Amino acid sequence: MNTQKAKRIVVKVGSSLVTNNGAGLDHAAIALWAEQMAALLGAGHQVLMVSSGAIAEGMQRLGWTKRPQEIHQLQAAAAVGQMGLVQVYESCFARFNLRSAQVLLTNADLANAERNANAKATLDTLLKLGVVPIINENDTVVTDEIKFGDNDSLAALVTNLIHADLLVILTDQGGLFTADPRQDTSATLLSDALAGDPLLEKMAGGAASELSKGGMLTKVLAAKVAAKTGAATVIASGREPNVLIRLMDGEKIGTRLAAS
Ligand code: GLU
Repeated sequence: MNTQKAKRIVVKVGSSLVTNNGAGLDHAAIALWAEQMAALLGAGHQVLMVSSGAIAEGMQRLGWTKRPQEIHQLQAAAAVGQMGLVQVYESCFARFNLRSAQVLLTNADLANAERNANAKATLDTLLKLGVVPIINENDTVVTDEIKFGDNDSLAALVTNLIHADLLVILTDQGGLFTADPRQDTSATLLSDALAGDPLLEKMAGGAASELSKGGMLTKVLAAKVAAKTGAATVIASGREPNVLIRLMDGEKIGTRLAAS
């Protein structure tokens, strides 16, 4: 589908973007996304955010310079950092007269029929009220995204849950390249492809950073899941000026993975 026609949009931002590579929560970047979301809401779109960054912020608050191996330490860091994460979202969104809501979900919640129905009804209600849900994994009770994903998979499941038209995965890379551009200078940006094409998984390889466990592979897999309910996925740089507005105006930025 054409991105301009997307009514419901899920925007996912990763840890390294939200915390400016671990330097602490990037208020300026979050304010810029909030400003764009206010414009999108004003134009009649419905927007949800899936944001990680709780562990990265928790590490900062606890004075840890290296990501621990111990899973319970990571869960504790997430609990500490989530406080800061929602504070910044709340204040940045309020600046643009936007109301936001914290929603913590797990893969297992969405796999359970009753919890799935409750989550869907709550999110639908928030969207009707014009509130922007700020979703993260509930890292206290599960470890899926801590081990592998940085919320890419959760964002896709949310896209399925609320039948969003478009999943926008904002990252610190320009999109999906034919090889890892940090290692291979001949790598070129792939601008259009079909979600679920097995070649994409080969191109995406590994590539996660100290701050998060998501690389391009989890993004490509997320696009495949999002496509199941007909959503297209765009993988683009969150540092691109006005990226959300320009995408919704139909500009080609990053990699667009069509559902069919
Ligand atoms: N839900 C986690 C967070 O927000 C996932 C990211 C990670 O593993 O660093 O921090």
